[in-house]
Amino acid sequence: METDAEQIRSEFESELLRTANSQALKDLRNRYLSRKNGRLSLALRGLSKLPAAKRPHAGQALNQARQRIETLLAERQQDLETHESSQQQSGDPLDLTLPGRRLLIGQAHPLTQVRHQVESVFRELGYRIETGPEIETDFHNFEALNMPEGHPARDLQDTFFTEGGYLLRTHTSPVQVRTMMSRKPPIRMVAIGRVFRRDSDISHSPMFHQVEGLAVDERVTFADLKGTIAAFCQRVFSPDTKIRLRPSYFPFVEPGAEFDISCALCSGSGCPTCKRSGWIEMGGAGMVHPAVFRAVGYDPGTVSGFAFGLGIDRIAMLKLGINDIRLLFENDLRFLRQFPQ
Ligand SMILES: [Zn+2]
Repeated sequence: METDAEQIRSEFESELLRTANSQALKDLRNRYLSRKNGRLSLALRGLSKLPAAKRPHAGQALNQARQRIETLLAERQQDLETHESSQQQSGDPLDLTLPGRRLLIGQAHPLTQVRHQVESVFRELGYRIETGPEIETDFHNFEALNMPEGHPARDLQDTFFTEGGYLLRTHTSPVQVRTMMSRKPPIRMVAIGRVFRRDSDISHSPMFHQVEGLAVDERVTFADLKGTIAAFCQRVFSPDTKIRLRPSYFPFVEPGAEFDISCALCSGSGCPTCKRSGWIEMGGAGMVHPAVFRAVGYDPGTVSGFAFGLGIDRIAMLKLGINDIRLLFENDLRFLRQFPQ
């Protein structure tokens, strides 16, 4: 006969730990608490066989054990119900032997990667990144840049016009105008961002990305311009990149130039990428035109400056070996995943 309340309770607790579901818990409850033949009921009935002096104490211990067992059963019942309902919600029971799911980790778009690199190169060179609106006024996009109304250079830039006399900026130069109008020299700034022109083929997109640098101070020279372009191209492409300048015309600079870099693919001996010339066209540059300085309120007699601009998309195409600019804007994951960070 069993009257040891302490032993019943401790055996119950170790069995409780092994119950894995509601049915097992129900069985356990019956084994201990069933009126007919539960261990506690049997023990209580056995009290009558004890000497009268021992009965009250043993009875009290058994009642405490019963309370404890009922409390533990209720707690366990609640745990199992919570667990079972979450399993029902997720369908099949959790199978811990299944292989894990691969996490897809995002990455910056190849153009964004190149843009970040360009920005960090300019920061190293001491330039400040400036931004401006993409919807611009005629004044900031054309007039202040020495392209008054009727100027033939306006036709080269197939402009998108919006209602109310505004336009989508055709270059990032309006940011230079805005920066010069709000600050005094010395200025070393870079404008980087989207520009828009009505043009679309294998090497043109109606939306593309430009980066422009501007330096204004006393006694800034053409040699400073050439040195800056070389330092920039050597950091972005490779340290042995050579540059060359060819005379050219842009209304907002005088003198103006286009600049090329040596072809990295053939090291100058000629290949299809450089059209057998050994050189690749990169962008435009020049000394800021006095008319631009006057438009923003600077005195062209005391300050001089240089500006240059090139396409981020073009840099990306060369660096990543892409031959169609439109691939950059189609957002095809099979293409984008080829350029991990
Ligand atoms: Zn080449």
